[in-house]
Amino acid sequence: MMAVGRVAIVGLGLIGSSVARAIDERLPHMVVTGHDASAAVREQARDLGLCTAIVDDPAIAVTDADLVILAVPVGRMAEAAEAIAPGLKADAIITDVGSSKAGVAEALARTLPNHVIIPAHPVAGTENSGPAAGFASLFDGRWCIVTPGADVPEDALAALTGFWQGLGAKVDVMDAAHHDMVLAVTSHLPHLIAYTIVGTASELEEVTESEVIKYSAGGFRDFTRIAASDPVMWRDVFLANRDAVLATLQRFNEDLTALQQAIRRGDGDKLEDWFTRTRAIRRSIIEQGQDDAAPDFGRKH
Ligand code: NAP
Repeated sequence: MMAVGRVAIVGLGLIGSSVARAIDERLPHMVVTGHDASAAVREQARDLGLCTAIVDDPAIAVTDADLVILAVPVGRMAEAAEAIAPGLKADAIITDVGSSKAGVAEALARTLPNHVIIPAHPVAGTENSGPAAGFASLFDGRWCIVTPGADVPEDALAALTGFWQGLGAKVDVMDAAHHDMVLAVTSHLPHLIAYTIVGTASELEEVTESEVIKYSAGGFRDFTRIAASDPVMWRDVFLANRDAVLATLQRFNEDLTALQQAIRRGDGDKLEDWFTRTRAIRRSIIEQGQDDAAPDFGRKH
């Protein structure tokens, strides 16, 4: 397997800083350089003691790196790749952590045509952003989906897989287009729904905003966590994964109309069947260790 001894992280927000912390804790032999486009973020990263060194110039940050991880919003991947191009070693592996994959793979291949590119997506995160929001255990037991193109050398793929496993993640390999369809259902559509509900509730005429906030524990509050996610990151995700999101949204609209009809017609059986099926999905998620079994997400009452 290719040895990864030096890593460069470009973008030191929630995900980039979590990678830096996880390397520090779990793979301490690695030398890590970090770079962020924002001088304020670089300063914060230095204050937090992230990485072996924080470097102002992106091309210098990646010099000598065996593995370069782009942890910037999906819409800025091409720009980040362009900025590191002059400093890359010929045999460096370039990867990313973006939440959509087909568009990113295309942009990176176009910008860095002579390098080994292996797009990846750690399916782990929170609603917070920035370097202070990261933590070392973020990837622990979570899936990282790797979407290599057909021409990726086996040893490079093994090196990236070994890296994510070293950070505590479980790795799945999948086609980029399939990744985008799966994540449209499991992540992108839920975010869109949360953004919609929270926006709608704040604009209702019959219910005041203070009532929405006061009685939020009825279910609304759980959507607000998702709807507090980074606006720039999510703008880019919807623009980049447009086709898969629109296809999933079409199906969602049809199901919503079916439930609307069941309510209008007083079809309790239909509603009960539907809700029984969804409760079983929640139980499977808990059984597979993807969430805590504590009621109400373990909140203190
Ligand atoms: P974040 O906390 O906002 O951090 C992104 C950082 O990248 C910001 O400091 C940003 O600086 C910087 N940046 C932007 N363009 C850059 C460039 N060209 N070169 C260097 N730095 C640049 O975002 P995040 O949550 O870590 O997300 C990073 C990536 O991970 C995204 O692609 C996202 O889709 C993916 N992801 C996120 C989650 C999640 O839950 N948050 C989960 C899995 C994957 P400025 O603020 O100055 O622009």
